[in-house]
Amino acid sequence: MIVDSRTLWLAGGVSALATGTLLCVQYLVAPDERAMVLWGAGKMITGVGAVLVGLRQAISDTASVLGGNVLIVLGWTIIVAGSASFNGRRLRPVPTLVSVCAPALALAVLIVSLDMSPGVRTGVIGLVLGVVIVWSVVDCRRAQRRDVYFWRSMQIIVMIAWVLVLELRAGVATVSPISGDPAANSAFQVATTMGLMVATIADGIACMMLSRERVDRQLVLASIRDPETGLLNRAGLMQEYAALAERGATATVVLLDIDGFKNVNDTYGHLDGDRVLRRFGDAVRQHAPTGEIAARYGGDEFCLILADCPLEDAVRITEAIRSEFASIDAAGTDALGLDGTVVTVSAGLSSVSTAQTTLDSAIMGADGALYRAKRAGRDRVAVAFDPC
Ligand code: GH3
Ligand code: MG
Repeated sequence: MIVDSRTLWLAGGVSALATGTLLCVQYLVAPDERAMVLWGAGKMITGVGAVLVGLRQAISDTASVLGGNVLIVLGWTIIVAGSASFNGRRLRPVPTLVSVCAPALALAVLIVSLDMSPGVRTGVIGLVLGVVIVWSVVDCRRAQRRDVYFWRSMQIIVMIAWVLVLELRAGVATVSPISGDPAANSAFQVATTMGLMVATIADGIACMMLSRERVDRQLVLASIRDPETGLLNRAGLMQEYAALAERGATATVVLLDIDGFKNVNDTYGHLDGDRVLRRFGDAVRQHAPTGEIAARYGGDEFCLILADCPLEDAVRITEAIRSEFASIDAAGTDALGLDGTVVTVSAGLSSVSTAQTTLDSAIMGADGALYRAKRAGRDRVAVAFDPC
């Protein structure tokens, strides 16, 4: 072996410190990603731990064996807490602190109280650390089923590799005596130390890329959503319509517009107007069949695209939205917070073949029907003259 185990521990420690620092810097740039600071701090602590282990015999055994190993377990537990936080778990300070410190303290007690040979000690440390990391793998697998990220899969693979190398090393160390001198370790120990070092750096990269992947995804989502109602915006609507056209679907385009909304704004103010918009967005969302396309087209105009849906069903769904909205305050509940004022909507429908009709033309057809509904007295649904 060209390098001995001691050099690898030192190199691994310095790499973990550098990766941890990068993760913390990334947190400063994007402070919404709270997991980054936990991953960064955890990596830095494992880095210091690895350096202490690498300094074995140059410093006291208490600092190296006890301090080094306890810091590595502590660091990894913080990394696991970082993944839990990324996976949507809200970390409450006291239980988190206890679960983070407990494995490290348990390890310290084990190392101090049991008079262990270097091999058995390696086995015990491997077991404690393995349990901590497997816990994170299970948590990440569960989160991955809900919300798929390429880099979370990479993170899981790296953590499994970490545990496999760690347990292999721990298992072999307990049955074949190893030297307490890191500079005189066997080729097997040097190889496994190198494996752990590579996996530590790979894990840091996976953490960084995972957070990057989520920020990118949030930017894409924000660019196609209306922040007021959470429905698609016009860009999102165009994107979804293009997907329908690609598969040659027929669709009914429904355009819904709040009646006399200018008056609501003028009488009650824009904030109350915004609340009515949000409530109407909820009504559209609730009545749209799962997976259908619901968007705020602009101002007080909303658009629903019902793919492969017979016109009669589309009319029934639109009627349900219209009558539910009109009934909100009809019982005098003042649920909209407008002194009991009833707010109604009108809608126009047009059925099209998405492959042969552009979104603009489809909207124009529905808009013509909407205009007729308004002219006929509002609070009603109208269908375009020549549906396909
Ligand atoms: P009609 O029955 O003919 O639809 O009458 P209307 O008063 O609703 O007329 P129109 O649909 O043209 O009015 C849209 C109004 O919506 C005008 C604008 O002030 C208001 N508006 C557009 N965007 C927003 C918004 O984000 N918040 C609020 N509060 N008002 C908005
Ligand atoms: Mg209107």
